[in-house]
Amino acid sequence: MSKPVVTRFAPSPTGFLHIGGARTALFNWAYAKNTGGKMLLRIEDTDRERSTDAAVAAILDGLSWLGLTWDGEPISQFARADRHAEIAHALLDKGMAYRCYCTPDELTEMREKARAEGRPPRYDGRWRDRDPSDAPSGVNPVIRIKAPESGEIVVHDHVQGEVVFKAENLDDFIILRSDGTPTYMHAVVVDDHDMGVTHIIRGDDHLTNAARQIVIYQAMGWDVPEMAHIPLIHGPDGAKLSKRHGALGVEAYRQMGYLPEALRNYLARLGWAHGDNEIFSTEQMVEWFSLKALNKGASRFDFAKLDSLNAHYIRAAEPVRLYEVMVDAASELGRNADYAGLLNNKDTAIAAIPELQPRAKTVLELIDLAQFIYASRPLAIEEKASELLTPESIAHLETLRGRFAALSEWSVAAIDADVRAYAESVGAKLGKIAQPLRAALTGRTISPGIFEVMVLIGKAESLARIADVTDKG
Ligand code: GLU
Repeated sequence: MSKPVVTRFAPSPTGFLHIGGARTALFNWAYAKNTGGKMLLRIEDTDRERSTDAAVAAILDGLSWLGLTWDGEPISQFARADRHAEIAHALLDKGMAYRCYCTPDELTEMREKARAEGRPPRYDGRWRDRDPSDAPSGVNPVIRIKAPESGEIVVHDHVQGEVVFKAENLDDFIILRSDGTPTYMHAVVVDDHDMGVTHIIRGDDHLTNAARQIVIYQAMGWDVPEMAHIPLIHGPDGAKLSKRHGALGVEAYRQMGYLPEALRNYLARLGWAHGDNEIFSTEQMVEWFSLKALNKGASRFDFAKLDSLNAHYIRAAEPVRLYEVMVDAASELGRNADYAGLLNNKDTAIAAIPELQPRAKTVLELIDLAQFIYASRPLAIEEKASELLTPESIAHLETLRGRFAALSEWSVAAIDADVRAYAESVGAKLGKIAQPLRAALTGRTISPGIFEVMVLIGKAESLARIADVTDKG
């Protein structure tokens, strides 16, 4: 029986949860779930200047919002510094690493010489075989790995295939700095080994690191985990995704009103596919997920596609849940009037949501569409809507107001029948009457069905809003 799968997500906590990181986490999570394994979370916080607690919190929040769970407690890489040093010393004892006493000046000179000779600037191995008794006193050495001097290092990658690195291009890189702290390259290997990671799924910007990391695994005699380096996400123009393409943080997508299941579905399709399936549940993704189906080509972020998926999930969501999401979004964005309006009109808002769902691509659009419920009188009328309020249509509204007041039943069917009868009696098309009604009742030209609107806001409010327009007109 093969070992149970252990994947990991290893973000550096220097900002928010990047959309590319979220996709990496999603793939690690889906693979772990698909195989009945585990996904661990390691916070790569060794860069003390750039790592912040706020960033750690933002990453955990972002993962939780996306519904991506990890097994066990998050592991701090920084907290494991002693273990990293221990392994560096073990490599020293095995003769697989050595102390290097080069001064910064020597290293600069080495780099410049290499450059002048047209060679890549690499460490020349001058302390590799030197007698330790040559060590200058008073200098704290770094520890360097003894990388193979010839032959090849092959990364067997599930996405990239066999990627061959010539040993001569990899120098004896530092694993422990002179202050005793580990380098990133070394810490990652020790952690992945100790955490029992069997599969490393990460961005292909780490592919050359993989070759260096394999050198450490081999020096320790450890098994190299399976690897899958996924192409980075690009913008619609084909350039690497960056700020100028739009939001990069998962946080921002939440704030803009995307549902987590929509973003999850969207991110799944960025670099992974299952036949022609575009819309699928998380359970299906987990069931279908395989490393084989990861794409080798870069994927492009397509905002229109994300919007259309979001529209799909908005239509599918329960109104009560959407209501909560709308309230949270309004609160978070400081949209105080919307926040108060939604809170004070909870039942009406929930009753209205089925009318709004087919018309919105994002939660923010849902909020905009819900504003007619709690808009304060007299309503602000948008320009396009006010163009509909001609003297002629205001006269119709005046008559309708009287008819509505006399209706004994306030239902969609009753109002609908009454407006139709009126339109017929004056020889006007229904739209001619309904559009000005919409303008008066919502201040807009687009809204849910106008008879539904009238029932939702109630008879008194409907009559009052019409009067605001007719009395002014
Ligand atoms: N901390 C690295 C990053 O955020 C990931 C390292 C890894 O996955 O090996 O890019």
